[in-house]
Amino acid sequence: MTLKVCKFGGTSMADGNTMQAVKKIIQSDEKRKFVVVSAPGKRFNGDIKVTDLLYACYDELKEKGDCKQAFASVRQRFESIVKELNIQMDIKSVLDETEQRLNAEKSSDFTASRGEYLSARIMAELLGAKFIDSEDVVFFKRDGQLDGEKTYRAISSAVNGVEKAVFPGFYGKGADGKVKTFSRGGSDISGAIVARAVNASVYENWTDVSGFLACDPRIVQNPKRIKNLSYKELRELSYMGANVLHSESIFPVRKANIPIVIKNTFRPEDEGTAILPISQYTPDGNVVTGIAGKKNFTVILIEKNHMNTEIGYVRKVLSVLEREGVSVEHIPSGIDTMSVVLDSEEVQGYKLEQIIEGIKNDTEPDVIRVMENVALIATVGHGMSSSIGTSARLFKAMAEANINAKMIDQGSSELNIIVGVRNEDCEKCIAACDLELFGC
Ligand code: ASP
Repeated sequence: MTLKVCKFGGTSMADGNTMQAVKKIIQSDEKRKFVVVSAPGKRFNGDIKVTDLLYACYDELKEKGDCKQAFASVRQRFESIVKELNIQMDIKSVLDETEQRLNAEKSSDFTASRGEYLSARIMAELLGAKFIDSEDVVFFKRDGQLDGEKTYRAISSAVNGVEKAVFPGFYGKGADGKVKTFSRGGSDISGAIVARAVNASVYENWTDVSGFLACDPRIVQNPKRIKNLSYKELRELSYMGANVLHSESIFPVRKANIPIVIKNTFRPEDEGTAILPISQYTPDGNVVTGIAGKKNFTVILIEKNHMNTEIGYVRKVLSVLEREGVSVEHIPSGIDTMSVVLDSEEVQGYKLEQIIEGIKNDTEPDVIRVMENVALIATVGHGMSSSIGTSARLFKAMAEANINAKMIDQGSSELNIIVGVRNEDCEKCIAACDLELFGC
């Protein structure tokens, strides 16, 4: 039988009512056998996500040696969920045990992981399904990367003969034997890992939106939904800030050609967005699939006469960054110029000065300048490689909105056009490009 893996995000797990909606969705399709859950998210505007409450517990632990006060809010959240669900579960003992382990382990990752742990325990109870602790089946290597082979083997043997199972998202076990989390939003990756391990026919990712939208709904009203995206388009858009899905979550499913479908827990009848391998992908008919933007990049601009003939120049610049442990986002270049675009968070404070000194010492540039507070706007779509004029339309829209392009980069596959603008022009630029390309 074909089977589906379903991941439910924080808003789907927010309270008893939303968890009942999740149960209904799972029970409405017998192929939905394996479930991955996030920690309870916000119930209303201004509410606090359980994961954030847990990070506050860790702060208290560091300061006072225990986290009694901060953990009280976590307790309250889970006790009220169990009460609303009206299930027979001794949540008090589970919470007591959790609090003891928090105090003993004193680890940030372990503390943060308990939101997913507790919500999976409750969901397993609600569904009458087996709880499989990700600590026992998801493994990281010494370098912090997922140990795919070991993980897939462990998951597939853990589900052998199991009718229905619930896994907590977001964490696994590090090479040191301790609980380790993915980056924030990482339950999406956990869902993809389980889908790959059980060779699911589809990975359903249930959120609180009916799929990817062509334009940012905070910037334009009623944007169009994207029906189909390729894995590559998704990676570009989610990396650049379209935050429906964690940008790393395609890697486990991509190798096995498992489609991802984004669905809305609160409007399950909506079709959602399918993210597909290129072999199964049919574009929606637009040249551009979507536009997304991300703020806070730092650009180092380097000029040196005859840079193009100096063998190894780019390598020397990149070696400085490698030495400093900084990754490079983009490298636009000219004959005698090159720029490196870096995530500003990675080069805070003295790090940037060290990099500049290193480049000056090792490569003797004529000019070196730094441009901070840069936003990158990515226009993404496979359709651009076979059509003419998209960049002309983009730059015309930007000129009419009086926005200066500080940097331009086109990916080698013509899948994206990336424009650097000042942070404060980010939203204005997205709105102008949306209007030009989608009319919204
Ligand atoms: N609960 C974690 C977070 O808030 C992971 C997730 O929800 O995917 O980032």
